[in-house]
Amino acid sequence: MKPKASKEQVSEVIHKIKSVGLTPDVSSGEYQTVIGIVGDEKKIDFEQIKSMDGVLDAIRIQVPYRLISRSYIPKDVLVKVGDITIGKDNPPVYMAGPCSIESYEQLYRIGREVKEAGAHILRGGAFKPRTSVHSFQGLGEEGLKHLQAVGKDLSMPTVTEIRSEIDVEMVAKHSDVLQIGARNMFNQDLIEAAAKTGKPILFKRGFSAQIDEYLSFAERIVANQNRNILLCERGIMPLGGGFKSQTRFTLDLNAVPVLRKETPFPVIADPSHGTGRRDLVLPMSRAAIASGAHGLMIEVHDRPQDALSDGAQAVLPEDLKKIIKVSNLVHKAIRESESPFSSDVSNGSGRA
Ligand code: PEP
Ligand code: MN
Repeated sequence: MKPKASKEQVSEVIHKIKSVGLTPDVSSGEYQTVIGIVGDEKKIDFEQIKSMDGVLDAIRIQVPYRLISRSYIPKDVLVKVGDITIGKDNPPVYMAGPCSIESYEQLYRIGREVKEAGAHILRGGAFKPRTSVHSFQGLGEEGLKHLQAVGKDLSMPTVTEIRSEIDVEMVAKHSDVLQIGARNMFNQDLIEAAAKTGKPILFKRGFSAQIDEYLSFAERIVANQNRNILLCERGIMPLGGGFKSQTRFTLDLNAVPVLRKETPFPVIADPSHGTGRRDLVLPMSRAAIASGAHGLMIEVHDRPQDALSDGAQAVLPEDLKKIIKVSNLVHKAIRESESPFSSDVSNGSGRA
């Protein structure tokens, strides 16, 4: 809309969009109102919209994830979790804790140490996605209660995975951030149900998802009126048949600057699942922050040999302290450099 468009003119456009069965997504900024369209835009005549009073322009955004593209939301989006602001040039945020919540005592013990090490958000899984039905599946609601209690006792906001849309209400009641895991990245009912809570969503990339697919599913969060998205690169499957890797997954750090360029949302990296190896978490944490990640998710256990899941990738609390220290130094060094985390660098000759 034109900067001086009247409320009535904005309403007319909204009415026009609704009249052809589409849903408007309205952003009222200080300077002007921008209206996005959710649904099949072929149903609407862009020339007609352009000719309406108060309309500045009607643009077709070419990428499939138009509501989260930089062309639609040019400025970096900040996501607030408790008192913490994530995104843009804010200091990196650290989410840390065990893979699985095993008991109140275990979570409290580890939580106190990760807080002391500098972590901001406490993580812990209560509904675990497991390949084998014989493995520990998580404590379910009991685990959520421990998470909420420990979060409160340590004054730390929390994040936990939501595995099924049946549990949305229950998980949202107990946790500050809802995590959608890699295996559920394609689960559109779950994404939509989680988005509708309005809570921040830590949306992990599927390990076989192309970035365009990943963002098309993230688009569903905004299409359900929730802009509190934290994207999360957590490693992909190495390509090629018979490719034998020394790591569980390959942390795709190319994705970090690509996601920052394509969308305005904060990007978190998960070097724990991305490598599957405790000894690689520190070097890949440094690299993730250097590539522009706004934060890290790190699995921590004080007795990794006894962990009920993902012990091989859990770092000790004292390792977390080192990881946070060096990651903050990397962030500071890059922020002080000439073009900190720039998404404006040219693509080179001939490439649009
Ligand atoms: C986790 O965070 O514990 C987890 C299962 O992550 P992912 O979905 O990335 O495998
Ligand atoms: Mn895990």
